[in-house]
Amino acid sequence: MPLDDILPLDAHALRADFPILQTRVRDETPLVYFDNAATTQRPRAVIDAITAAYERQYSNVHRGIHWLSELSTGLFEDARTAVQRFIRAERSCEIIFTPGTTASINLVARSWGDANLRASDEVLLTEMEHHSNLVPWHQLAQRTGCRLRFLPVTPNGLLDLTALDELLTERTRFVSVVAVSNVLGTINPIKTIIARAHQVGALVLVDAAQSVPHDATDVRDLDADFLAFSGHKMLGPSGVGVLYGREKLLDAMPPFLGGGSMIDRVTLDGFTSADLPEKFEAGTPPIVPAIAMAAAVHYLEAVGLAAVSAHERRLTEKMHAVLSRFDGVRILGPDPGLKGGIVSFVIDGFNAQDVAMMLDEQGVAVRLGHHCAMPLHAKLGVSASLRASFYLYNTLDEIDRFAEALQSALRMLKPKGGKRPASVPAVG
Ligand code: PMP
Repeated sequence: MPLDDILPLDAHALRADFPILQTRVRDETPLVYFDNAATTQRPRAVIDAITAAYERQYSNVHRGIHWLSELSTGLFEDARTAVQRFIRAERSCEIIFTPGTTASINLVARSWGDANLRASDEVLLTEMEHHSNLVPWHQLAQRTGCRLRFLPVTPNGLLDLTALDELLTERTRFVSVVAVSNVLGTINPIKTIIARAHQVGALVLVDAAQSVPHDATDVRDLDADFLAFSGHKMLGPSGVGVLYGREKLLDAMPPFLGGGSMIDRVTLDGFTSADLPEKFEAGTPPIVPAIAMAAAVHYLEAVGLAAVSAHERRLTEKMHAVLSRFDGVRILGPDPGLKGGIVSFVIDGFNAQDVAMMLDEQGVAVRLGHHCAMPLHAKLGVSASLRASFYLYNTLDEIDRFAEALQSALRMLKPKGGKRPASVPAVG
C-alpha cells in the first residue's frame, strides 16, 4: 500500500486540540515537534483538567473531613481507577502514584531489592536499558553485592533471546526490561521474557515508559509483576507516574519513603504502615498531576491506542523511507515492522550536533545525544545520535518538512574530517 494512503487517525484534526502545536519557533517557523520520546504535549482537555482542579477542586487528599478535601480525594482516587482500567490491572490498590518511571523503578529496587537480594543473587537487565533502569540496579548491587547480568542486543537492534538459556538460572531473582527502547524503538517480546523469567522463579519489572503511551497494555495478559510509566510521555503532566505491582508482592514489600500518609500508627518507638496503595505514597501525592493524567488516559481511550500505534507505524515507515534516500545515514535499530514511533540515526561525516542545530533553525525539534542510554550507544559504536520520535498529532507532511530541513542542513554544513558529504536527494 502506498505510504500516503489514508491514515488510521486524523492527526490534522487532533492537532487542533493541542495549543502548543500552533506555536511558531522563534515567532516565525511552524513547529515540527519530533521529541515525543522525551516528553509529549498536552491536549486542551488535560490543560482544562489542571485549571479546573486548581480553580474549583483542590485540597489535600485523604486528610480532611471537609467538602473540598472529599472532592479532591474523590477525583484523585478516580484517577487511580482510570489508570487501573487503562492497563487492565485487577485492583486499584495495585496502582501507586509516583513522580515518574524513574521513581517507580527506584521504589522497587530499594524496597523489594534491599529486602530480598543477597550477594549470591543475580538481576538480569538488557543492554538497551535507559539509565533509569540501570543506575538503580547498579546502586542495589553496590548495597547488596548482587550481580547484574545483561541480555545482549544484536547488531540490528533486537534482544538476543538465545542468550536467555544461559542468563536465566536459579540465581536470577529479578529481571527488569524495557518494553520499547527509547533509542532503537524496538518493541521487545516482553510476554515471552516474562514467561521465561517466571520459569526460573524470577520476578519481572517492565519499563513501560515508551510503550504504555503508544499501544494497549494489559498487565494481566503480560503476567507482569511490576510495570512503570510516566504521565508526561502520554499527554499528561510531568511530576506524576505510576508503579503497577501485583497486590501480593506490594503487600509483602516494606515501604520505601517514610512520612505522612504511608502510616497506620506512629509512636515514639516506631510505626506501622498503611495499607496499599498509601503505604507507598508517603507525603502529599501529586494530586493535580494524577487528576490530569486521568484526563490524558480518557483522551487516549477516545482516540484509541490501536489507531495511535498504527498511525505511528505509518510515520516510522515513511521516516525510514525518507532517511534511506540520504547517503551516509545509518538508522539505529530494526525495520519499521519491529519498532514503535522512534527513529534514531547518525550521518556519516557530519557532526550530529550541527545537524540538530540546523534542524532547529528550521523549526524541527529532534533529540540529540545518548538519550540516557550510554551503554547502548557504546555497544553500537556511536557517541551520539539524532532521534525523531512521533505521537498521535504528527503528520506525514511533517516528515516531508523534516526531509527538506535535513536536505538543506546537509547542503550548508561542512562535513567533518573533510569527508565526502552525504549525497542529498531530491525531496518531493
Ligand atoms: N525509561 C525509558 C525507556 C524512558 O524513555 C524514560 C524517559 N526518557 C525513562 C525510563 C524515565 O522516565 P522519567 O524521566 O519520566 O522518569
